[in-house]
Amino acid sequence: MQSRWWCCRLVAWTWVWSLALLGAWCIPANEVNLLDSRSVIGDLGWVAYPKNGWEEIGEVDEDYAPIHTYQVCRVMEQNQNNWLHTNWILTEGAQRVFIELKFTLRDCNSLPGGVGTCKETFNMVMKESRYIKIDTIAADESFTELDLGDRVMKLNTEVRDLGPLTRKGFYLAFQDLGACIALVSVRVFYKRCPFLVKSLAEFPDTIPGSEASQLVEVVGRCVNNSLPLYEPPRMHCSAEGEWLVPIGKCVCQPGFEEINGSCQVCKVGFYRSLLESVACSKCPPHSAARQMGATTCSCEDAYYKIDSDPPNMACTPPSPVSVVRKDHTGKSSIALSWAEPDRPNGIILEYEIKYFEKEQDSSYTIIKSKETEMVVEGLKPSSVYIFQVRARTSAGYGAFSRRFEFQTSPYLTATSERAQASIVAVAITLALVLLAVSGFLHLHISILMMCLCLLPNRRCGYSKAKQDPEEEKMHFHNGHIKFPGVRTYIDPLTYEDPNQAVHEFAQEIDVSFISIERIIGAGEFGEVCSGPLRLPGKREMQVAIKTLKAGYTEQQRRDFLWEASIMGQFNHPNIIRLEGVVTKSKPVMIITEYMENGSLDTFLKKNDGQFTVIQLVGMLRGIASGMRYLSDMGYVHRDLAARNILVNSNLVCKVSDFGLSRVLEDDPEAAYTTRGGKIPIRWTAPEAIAYRKFTSASDVWSYGIVMWEVMSYGERPYWEMSNQDVIKAVEENYRLPGPMDCPEALYHLMMDCWQRERNSRPKFDEIVCLLDKLIRNPSSLKKLVNSSHRVSNLLVEHASAEGECNTLSQTVGEWLDSIKMGRYTELFMEGGYSSLETVAQMTSE
Ligand code: AMP
Repeated sequence: MQSRWWCCRLVAWTWVWSLALLGAWCIPANEVNLLDSRSVIGDLGWVAYPKNGWEEIGEVDEDYAPIHTYQVCRVMEQNQNNWLHTNWILTEGAQRVFIELKFTLRDCNSLPGGVGTCKETFNMVMKESRYIKIDTIAADESFTELDLGDRVMKLNTEVRDLGPLTRKGFYLAFQDLGACIALVSVRVFYKRCPFLVKSLAEFPDTIPGSEASQLVEVVGRCVNNSLPLYEPPRMHCSAEGEWLVPIGKCVCQPGFEEINGSCQVCKVGFYRSLLESVACSKCPPHSAARQMGATTCSCEDAYYKIDSDPPNMACTPPSPVSVVRKDHTGKSSIALSWAEPDRPNGIILEYEIKYFEKEQDSSYTIIKSKETEMVVEGLKPSSVYIFQVRARTSAGYGAFSRRFEFQTSPYLTATSERAQASIVAVAITLALVLLAVSGFLHLHISILMMCLCLLPNRRCGYSKAKQDPEEEKMHFHNGHIKFPGVRTYIDPLTYEDPNQAVHEFAQEIDVSFISIERIIGAGEFGEVCSGPLRLPGKREMQVAIKTLKAGYTEQQRRDFLWEASIMGQFNHPNIIRLEGVVTKSKPVMIITEYMENGSLDTFLKKNDGQFTVIQLVGMLRGIASGMRYLSDMGYVHRDLAARNILVNSNLVCKVSDFGLSRVLEDDPEAAYTTRGGKIPIRWTAPEAIAYRKFTSASDVWSYGIVMWEVMSYGERPYWEMSNQDVIKAVEENYRLPGPMDCPEALYHLMMDCWQRERNSRPKFDEIVCLLDKLIRNPSSLKKLVNSSHRVSNLLVEHASAEGECNTLSQTVGEWLDSIKMGRYTELFMEGGYSSLETVAQMTSE
């Protein structure tokens, strides 16, 4: 009787509450309901056992829709075991589901006396093939008689996840052992990463994996008329139904440009040739695109350029070099000369010599010379080569000369080599005799020169311009520069006029399209602001605006725009993108994409401890991918540090701050070295500090430091140690210890980046590959750096090539030897100190 009374109170209470609850339904987009007791119309069909245990209270809301509430309150009776079984719940392929319960529970202490069996929990159970308890559910808040009187609703919400599920469906059950509960709603759902279009790639609805820490990698599909840039776009679907770690992107195919998230065809008169270009460009002077969707423009009549000229190069009237002469032939070289063109189209800046082996014109090489002569080296003996020369003036390149055929000398045969050797021997003997008699220094020199001239393969006092070293040659195959997949960075210094370099690589933007809204930072040359950029026919976008403050010198203007000339050559999702420059009005501006979260070091300090390891690795992967692109382009950054990485709202990290010496002058971390020049010591490889050997391998060292900054949430590398102490410690093979909670795999990678021998450091493509592997297999990140490798303000000794990083791998004997106390080894052994771990635990007593 008493039990009945409590039930009635529960019902009344629940009814009022349910009405309030129904108004607040709102299911997030990434959740898919498998069961929601609140939305079932008609009978729920759940089974209660025994019959007098759980009972359904049939109520209706204000629209007369049924509300399914189950309650039980047999607190007055001993040995309760009341079950409520749902019907079969289909999983729809999900391997991990969530169960959300809303319920109220009576506070046992508030019941009148004599209710010793009263419980304040109940069990949630599932059954695939057999019953498995999911959890004991307790209430955060239980209600009392007073709450009922005041009509205060103490509703509890509990969510549990369940997985991995192996069948197509399962049952849920609730077991009551003597509590007073009203189950107001039960919702079973799974999470999915919803369909997404990002960077022109579509990612389908994706169901996460069965493990809570698992990430499912999904390859995106490029939308119409777009292609993957460098690598297929990928995203990772987390167990929480969130898309994480974006990698790669799609870009519009040549002849199209991205406008409002889709690829639109280039208009007549415009073209787009490279995947890396952002938009269709107007055809260069004296050329035209007569059809929509052009990938190149064709020259007007009587204007020329050659296939290998960049598409943005103007067509020019001919200024041909008419005759090319052969001055000298070797077995692997030919010396050429030519006369200046009669009517050059302006002052001649340089000549280009194009050559290829006869009948192999799909592969050719271009070299440059400022003189009217050149020795072309590296040729095959006894082979016919075709040569063409053209001049470049400020108006561009003239047409190539007609083809000239020259043949290299044959290999020396054994007899001719012997003959030549005897000539050399005779000449040397003659020289020695002459030396003996002459005694004049200048004679020594000329005689020795004569001897050397007779040696095979030796050029004698040849004063002509020599062919540039290998890295300055450009090799072409079928009209494309032969670098593995990527263009090469062109040093703006190679342009005599810096303004030409800026306009070659950066688009001029009319200042009327930009609105400055707020100041976001301070750069060396002036303020950094942000605001919208509204280019005609393009979607408005938020940009960062770097300004050059008034009163600048011409040199400062050049230095300021230098960065744009570099940045404009890059197009990669992890490199800050240049939108354009404003040079035709004042102030002069550099416009780049806007990065909502600013610089990485400040961002990490502000969000200390807030990210999952996978998110941090995702950021590192992005930086490594940007650096891989730069090193493939032949660009060495020299100032890679977290302060020079920018972060956008999706946590995508992009490398910024280009411009070499300027940047180093500007960097507050850069210090003067004894050899002159400013260097950010803490981030820089020892060989770059010692003798300015900056290479992609020294960038890899800096990348290791950035990894350390990221994993320690913006901690200063080497803390407050002085620069001199840092140089000394690194020189003595000490390295930064692993940051707190840093996965061991990442610390090993950092240590590899800090190998003294620069060729032993990993390359950026290897780093990207390793980080991808770790992202795909998050369990590999579970093992954290051992605390003995993480002595918070000491450095650890860098170990041998195996990548070991602790001194504990030494024996006690080796350690004593290293501190010149080897004679005590026996004493240590006798005292039981046979390993360095035991030594470390020694007390002063
Ligand atoms: P910088 O002169 O490039 O070092 O820029 C100075 C500061 O301006 C940086 O530290 C950032 O806080 C901010 N900043 C520069 N570029 C951007 C950008 N593209 N988006 C957002 N903030 C930026």
